[in-house]
Amino acid sequence: MELVCASANPDKVAEIAAILAGVGVELLARPSSVADVEEDADSLVGNARLKARAIAEATGLPALADDTGLEVDALDGAPGVRSARFAGEHASYDDNVSLLLQQLEARGALDPAARTARFRTVVMVRWPAGRELVVEGVCEGTISSRRHGTNGFGYDPIFTPLEADGRTFAELTAEEKHAISHRGRALRAAADALGST
Ligand code: IMP
Repeated sequence: MELVCASANPDKVAEIAAILAGVGVELLARPSSVADVEEDADSLVGNARLKARAIAEATGLPALADDTGLEVDALDGAPGVRSARFAGEHASYDDNVSLLLQQLEARGALDPAARTARFRTVVMVRWPAGRELVVEGVCEGTISSRRHGTNGFGYDPIFTPLEADGRTFAELTAEEKHAISHRGRALRAAADALGST
């Protein structure tokens, strides 16, 4: 089976291709002729659908898209679907991390028990005629009080997963992260579902 990847991020594409190869799915690169999609839906599923639908309609092939959010309990689930743009439309990863740390401090959420959070990834496979497969992966953790580590991207330096040994995602190797991460879990669930269809 061939699937077109809606993401153009080479790190994500390599990770997705490796996981799907296990169930005989060949991942094709996103055609550069398809314009970027505005990710302005109000849910992770909605954004994944916007991306997958655009690619499936442009190529006539099934497409795979993912969308991820970080949900912080003390901030009522923010930044959530707005994780990429938390500190503004063109915010850097570092701007978003700074704003999150500031907001937790402002709420008086200082000890780890008050800083619980989770990453959630939705993966959607959408066929050109409109059939959809939707799966989700979650990774629970806490937000540390300052940055630790330099691996990964986004909020990794301040996210300490419960299933590791106290290191943040940015202190884990890529393999250690993928084994427990939201995205790894969602992709393995997608691979399982595709393998049994
Ligand atoms: P996307 O939907 O994968 O583009 O993710 C949206 C935003 O969530 C990104 O811009 C990052 O800020 C953040 N994010 C997504 N996945 C991760 C991750 O694995 N670690 C840290 N931050 C992430």
